[in-house]
Amino acid sequence: MLPILFTLTTFVSTMAGGLFALKNRDRLHRILGFTAGVLLGVVAFDLMPEIFDLLSTTKTDPVVPMIALVVGFLAFHIAEKLTILHSAHEADHDTDGEYTAHKHPQVGLLSAIALSAHSFLDGVGIGLAFQVNTTVGLAVALAVIAHDFSDGLNTVTLMLTHRNTSRRSFYLLLLDATTPLLGALSTLFFRLSDQQLLIYLGFFVGFLLYIGASDILPEAHAKHPSRLTLALTVAGTVLIFLVTRVNLG
Ligand SMILES: [Zn+2]
Repeated sequence: MLPILFTLTTFVSTMAGGLFALKNRDRLHRILGFTAGVLLGVVAFDLMPEIFDLLSTTKTDPVVPMIALVVGFLAFHIAEKLTILHSAHEADHDTDGEYTAHKHPQVGLLSAIALSAHSFLDGVGIGLAFQVNTTVGLAVALAVIAHDFSDGLNTVTLMLTHRNTSRRSFYLLLLDATTPLLGALSTLFFRLSDQQLLIYLGFFVGFLLYIGASDILPEAHAKHPSRLTLALTVAGTVLIFLVTRVNLG
C-alpha cells in the first residue's frame, strides 16, 4: 500500500505546481533548480548503487542496464521534442517570434495529454521501485513527488500559453495529477524478476537524468542565471546524499 500512499502525495504536488503556475511564474525556476538537484542525487546515491548491487547478485553484463539508460534518456527526449512538451521554457523566446507558429489550443491540449501519459509512467516508476525494496521505493517516490511539481506547472503553462481557458487548464491539471496514481495501481498486478528490475532501473535512471537535465539546462543557459537557483540545485543533491546515508546507517 506504500506506493499508493506516495502517489497520493504526487497528486498534491502536481496540483500545487499547477496552481503555483496560475499565480506566479517569476520564482518557478528556483523550484525547478532544486528538484533537478534532487533528481541527480537520487540517480547517483540511490539508483546507481542499487544497479551495482543487482549486477553482482544477478551476474548480468553491465552494458544491459546502460543500454536501458540510453534508451530511457533518448525516448523521453524524442517524445518531448515531438510533442513540444518543452514549450513552457520555449515560451520565453516569444519576443523574437520563433515559436509563435505553435500557439494553438490543440497543441497545448495534445502536449498536456502527452505530459499526463508521462506522469502515468512516473507512477509506474514509484510502484516498481517499491518492488526493488522500500529504500529505493522511498527515494524514487521523493524524486517523483519533487519533480511532479514541475509536471503540474508545465501542464498549466502549456495550456495557457497555447490560449486555452483557465477552466480547461485546470481539468488537464486534474488529469495530470491523477495519472501517477493509476500508474502505481497498475504495478500491483505484476511482479518483475531481478533481471527485469535491472533493466527498469537503467531505463528510469536515463529518464530521471533527462528530466533533471532538461530542468537545469535552460536556467544554466539563461542570460542572467540566478545564483540562488544554482545553490538550490547543489542543495537538492546534497540533501539526497545525506538522506541516503541515514538510510544505510
Ligand atoms: Zn513527471
